[in-house]
Amino acid sequence: MSETFRSDEHPDAQSAVAGHLYVVATPIGNLADLSPRGQTILRSVDRICAEDTRNTGMLLSHFGISKPLTALHEHNEAGLVSSLIEMLQAGRSLAVVSDAGTPLISDPGFALVRAARAADLPVITVPGPCAAIAALSIAGIPSDAFSFVGFLPSKASQRRERLRELGTQSNTLIVYESSHRIADCLDDLASVLGPTRRVCLARELTKRFEQSVVMPAVELVAWLAADSNRTRGEFVLVIEGAPAAGVGRAEHERLLRVLLKELSPSKAAKLAAELSGGRKSELYALALEINGGDGVAGVE
Ligand code: SAM
Repeated sequence: MSETFRSDEHPDAQSAVAGHLYVVATPIGNLADLSPRGQTILRSVDRICAEDTRNTGMLLSHFGISKPLTALHEHNEAGLVSSLIEMLQAGRSLAVVSDAGTPLISDPGFALVRAARAADLPVITVPGPCAAIAALSIAGIPSDAFSFVGFLPSKASQRRERLRELGTQSNTLIVYESSHRIADCLDDLASVLGPTRRVCLARELTKRFEQSVVMPAVELVAWLAADSNRTRGEFVLVIEGAPAAGVGRAEHERLLRVLLKELSPSKAAKLAAELSGGRKSELYALALEINGGDGVAGVE
């Protein structure tokens, strides 16, 4: 049976425990998103392993925390792991943080966590922001099954090849992208996955200029080109999965229009999923769209 705690009674709420490794999520833009528990743990561990000690130093000083820091990034992680494991075994407590969001998600920390697991040391999560999950949660694109892709290759030919591999998957894809490649990436998305594939572009999440739009890939290319400000900042793309083989959106729509004459959106979607092999969640969203967002229309 699962055990839950009130925030003030969790065994780790007060302070870090000797020999424990804490994986702490930090804000992706809005400093208020560092959780109270995250602050408590960062305040009480013996040492913090940080992707960039200057960035983390600024975060810590905002919260009035002063702590010994060790730089832990992709170039030194493998070499540092054994000494960090020795510290934990000697009873020190450690936190690992990255520049933004959840460590290990396109960020350092994996080698340390794996080594701690291998050494049978407790690894504790202090969860919080993650740009991929934040974007998925606001995209309105099916979230029941998704693949986190991280960054696509920067070389155009390799990026297109990777998109061809991913493009047949029926689950949602989540991609990270930088400002200088976002336009090329969207061009490739539209040409490899097709102009009608729906994509959510989410930029600057939790920051002053947060923006998120959902539209077919080809329209998104034009939307981005229309205003140079839209290419600024940090991006997540949430890409709708490929339609079920053989049955495209047009056929789903035709099927649903017939069923919606007699049934509620939920029943129509269930039946359409059985008939077409498509996903019920997608068909339900489409049914609502056809009904003009009115989830109660139709006869039970
Ligand atoms: N570990 C981080 C996480 O949990 O999201 C991701 C780190 S990865 C090196 C950085 C990328 O995450 C950025 O290039 C961008 O694609 C995405 N990202 C981070 N912060 C973001 C934000 N505020 N809005 C949109 N995307 C963001």
